[in-house]
Amino acid sequence: MSGCEHKISGSREKIWLPYYFEGRERGLKPHPYCIECGLIKNLSSEKPRSIGYFMNIIAELGNRHKIAQIQTRLIALEMERLALDDKFGMDRMQQEDLFVEITTRILNIPARAVYELLD
Ligand SMILES: [Zn+2]
Repeated sequence: MSGCEHKISGSREKIWLPYYFEGRERGLKPHPYCIECGLIKNLSSEKPRSIGYFMNIIAELGNRHKIAQIQTRLIALEMERLALDDKFGMDRMQQEDLFVEITTRILNIPARAVYELLD
């Protein structure tokens, strides 16, 4: 859980970490981080998704599998608890992996059923 507003570190205070571009590691780059919670800013080229995007995927899953309303609610709560929409620290790949983990766990469906809906 984040809940942090994220205050970014100054330009001199950065952490050197691997940088990913199009899913590949492209050497090290200085990453800014949050001075409140320590979360490191994601510098991936792929922009993170909104919660709305993932809610649409759940609706689409509901057309293909039997999903109870409480399960949709549980998934939404899990996404909130794990700060899936924290665009400061999450890149798209991390979000998708987390989303697949949550949905397969709660809905008891295979991971490929979820991955095939993500573009
Ligand atoms: Zn923070």
